[in-house]
Amino acid sequence: MDLVVVGASLAGLRAVESARRAGHTGPITLIGAEPHLPYDRPPLSKAFLCAGGPAQVRPFRGEAELRDELGVRLLLGTPAQTLDTVACEVSVGDQAVPYDALIIATGASPRPFPGTSGIAGVHQLRTSDDAVAIRSALDGGARTVVVGAGFIGSEVASAARARGHEVTVVEAASLPLSRSIGVDAGTVCADLHRANGTDLRLGVGVAAIESSDGRVTGVRLDDGTVLAADLVVVGTGVAPATGWLRGSGVPLHERDGGVLCDETLWTGVPGVYAAGDVAHVPNPLFDGDLMRLEHWTSAAEQGAAAARHALDPASARGLAPVPYFWSDWYGHRIQFVGTPDCDEVQVVDTDTFTALYRRGDRIVGALTVDRPREVMKFRKRIAERGDWSEALAFAGVSAREGA
Ligand code: FAD
Repeated sequence: MDLVVVGASLAGLRAVESARRAGHTGPITLIGAEPHLPYDRPPLSKAFLCAGGPAQVRPFRGEAELRDELGVRLLLGTPAQTLDTVACEVSVGDQAVPYDALIIATGASPRPFPGTSGIAGVHQLRTSDDAVAIRSALDGGARTVVVGAGFIGSEVASAARARGHEVTVVEAASLPLSRSIGVDAGTVCADLHRANGTDLRLGVGVAAIESSDGRVTGVRLDDGTVLAADLVVVGTGVAPATGWLRGSGVPLHERDGGVLCDETLWTGVPGVYAAGDVAHVPNPLFDGDLMRLEHWTSAAEQGAAAARHALDPASARGLAPVPYFWSDWYGHRIQFVGTPDCDEVQVVDTDTFTALYRRGDRIVGALTVDRPREVMKFRKRIAERGDWSEALAFAGVSAREGA
């Protein structure tokens, strides 16, 4: 059986590893648009940017290990262009790669700021090449403006501050992240920026990114203010990388174009599964909510499961995970478990910060700052469909005892 994995990053690599662990001895082809071996993205906006000097990003595994130990045929540096689900072939450059089982793990691409293509000094942060360019601009002491106070933009601001640079974050909403984690948690995020010397401009949009001779010079805000800049990092979200699937018959989400799957990650097209940031998956733990998560842990878990299921569909079991992500800001760790889609958010600890999220009479989410052990206890309760009052009582106890 030929297993083909499109997307050579976390979900794709975990798919390959899990296929071999499951005893698959047939051919595996891993197709990646980037010229690099699979590498880890979270450090790109954290330790990698905080450190200075020339550097390359190290891959998860070396080429020899992938080729010789895992027996993977690598097709890197050229994107898959089309998928033919009748002939069961993926086209890559001038090759047609046949498959019996296919994993779509093409992740997501950042949305560019309109009109900035080709302007030096304007970056998004998704790839190792992006991170190398941003790190080098920080090495040169760039005046930095971050557009968008989401997790990645905020981590870039945090890294710039760690290196002693001035940085401004511009956010059109009145609070960072309030739509995704709630107003109280958004306020905590705003406070973290301000307490660490980041100039946070809220409730104002970016009218234009200005340049001269092809190099960025500044950011003009809707209120007319111009922020001088040598480095602008645009962090305004991503879109699933599914352009290559158009016309393939693989079902795509009508709003964002992500791949629609069932709980086993099957797309409904024979042999075709999806995993990671590209995939919308219903989660029975949260009333069947369709979730497209942009989280490291889900990409890893889904990649591994998708390969097992694609190779042996009869043994496929639906996933019902508790989503989890973390983000590191100014030496603090923000962690979230579960879903923010809820009826009520209650702040149960204002000291470091813990907020709980209720749906009906259940706890469905928890956000903590610098409480790594506690957040995992909430994760367990969410997985067990834990009772809201019990979670509140537990939170009261653990906040007092500093759990
Ligand atoms: P991706 O990592 O996006 O990989 C998809 C791959 O597919 C890419 O290499 C892409 O080039 C390739 N591809 C796209 N189209 C094609 C095509 N047509 N043909 C072939 N290949 C293609 N998550 C957390 O939980 N915590 C964090 O702290 C955190 N920090 C992050 C920091 C940064 C800077 C970034 C970018 C992400 C961070 N994440 C974090 C999110 C996490 O890294 C992602 O959820 C994870 O990388 C998703 O893995 P993936 O394999 O699904 O997709």
